[in-house]
Amino acid sequence: MKLATEHQLHYLSQKYNEYNLPMYLSYPVDSHWRQPADESAIALTLNELEEAQVYVHIPFCKSICYYCCCDRVLGGREEDQDLYIGALEQELELKLADRSRKLRSGNIHWGGGTPAYLNERQIERLYGSLSRYVEPLDNARVKLEAYPDKQIVSEGKLRLLKALGFNYISFGVQDFDTRVLNAIHRECDLEETREIIGLARSMDFTVNVDLCYGLPYQGLGEFERTLREIVKIAPDKIVAFPYAHYPAIYPLQRKIPLLSLPNSYMVARLFELAREVLSPDYTMMGSDTFIRNIGRERHPGPQVVRDFMGSSEIGSPELLGLGKSAVSKTGRLYYKNTTAMDRYRSALDQGRLPVESGRTHQLSEDDLVRAELILLRLLGGMSIDKAAFTSSCGADFDTYFQQEIIQLRAMERDGLLEGVDSPLIQVTPSGTYFIRAIAHVFDPYYKSPSIGENSI
Ligand code: SF4
Repeated sequence: MKLATEHQLHYLSQKYNEYNLPMYLSYPVDSHWRQPADESAIALTLNELEEAQVYVHIPFCKSICYYCCCDRVLGGREEDQDLYIGALEQELELKLADRSRKLRSGNIHWGGGTPAYLNERQIERLYGSLSRYVEPLDNARVKLEAYPDKQIVSEGKLRLLKALGFNYISFGVQDFDTRVLNAIHRECDLEETREIIGLARSMDFTVNVDLCYGLPYQGLGEFERTLREIVKIAPDKIVAFPYAHYPAIYPLQRKIPLLSLPNSYMVARLFELAREVLSPDYTMMGSDTFIRNIGRERHPGPQVVRDFMGSSEIGSPELLGLGKSAVSKTGRLYYKNTTAMDRYRSALDQGRLPVESGRTHQLSEDDLVRAELILLRLLGGMSIDKAAFTSSCGADFDTYFQQEIIQLRAMERDGLLEGVDSPLIQVTPSGTYFIRAIAHVFDPYYKSPSIGENSI
């Protein structure tokens, strides 16, 4: 990186520090879903559902990582896991039994937690229950999140998954450096990872690897070694996401020494490093995902949107979430299941939807306009074609966003955007580091008035 660019990056990373900005997996982000749950309105949208992405949450993990922001449960006895699977079956029945045909899905995703932590009998049982209500479309992606640990992902389990119909497996690696891993209470052995991923590839699974940057003690050298090893392992897709430090919400993060965390400039450098190391073999998709040029995963070109699965090929806008803490979007409603295991199970025992009270949001017309802009055009496509926006939303961009354009011009002076007053606004390569800050300009729910006020 040239010195002038480094100086600019240093300045911009302090000005547009993204630590406190949302990841924008939805718009509005889920912390702003604050309406009371209306179970009958949700039931109506469920009855109209013909096709949806399906997310199944399995919260159990072998051990708990300090950096984790997911809803997870340590271990769990086999009988507790069986009870949870029973509750998932009750939820499936409550949501999908009353229909003349199965729900079609192009994307079935078991996430967690560590879904691969379930034993073979449990995986087979849950897959069978799901198949009674959900029918994968041709070429559907049936995906499971896993940990590169042979005790969790055995050869027999991989064979079972393949036989059931899973075709996609995602491994959380994050980093291979011992000091980084110790600080986040996680183990990830390079040789074991290489072996398990090799086995999965030999069985024709499409393989995804998650990496995390901005972790404690993670410097450019540590992360570069991890990136270069991952390039040799050659997964079909790599997702590099930033560590989010919120110790007030995730108390285990207090075990991470504050001074061990890279500052915002280093976080931007780590992401730049990922782009540099991966670019010969991978093409970026959206803001954080890299698709291998000669792998099993096809780059969807401009057809990219941001959703709860991250940067994804545009698919069904409907999402059916199953399991505690799972989120759904059906019709115009976003809603989140309760996170507490006892409340989740007791709601289902009483035949009620396990929706968390006060965690629902009905999308307004304005929400729909801004969701398209943030999730599809900015985080998906890194540009705003004003004519395409108008024909899709029926609103003239320059008129609708008069206030926001003032902030965009300041960002243009900072080199994050080009063409703010032209028909096509484009995010520059520097702007991709700060894409969430750009998206944030359009977010009246979660807005910092300081962004964009002072340009260089
Ligand atoms: S990072 Fe993954 S394995 Fe670690 S606690 Fe969170 S869900 Fe479990």
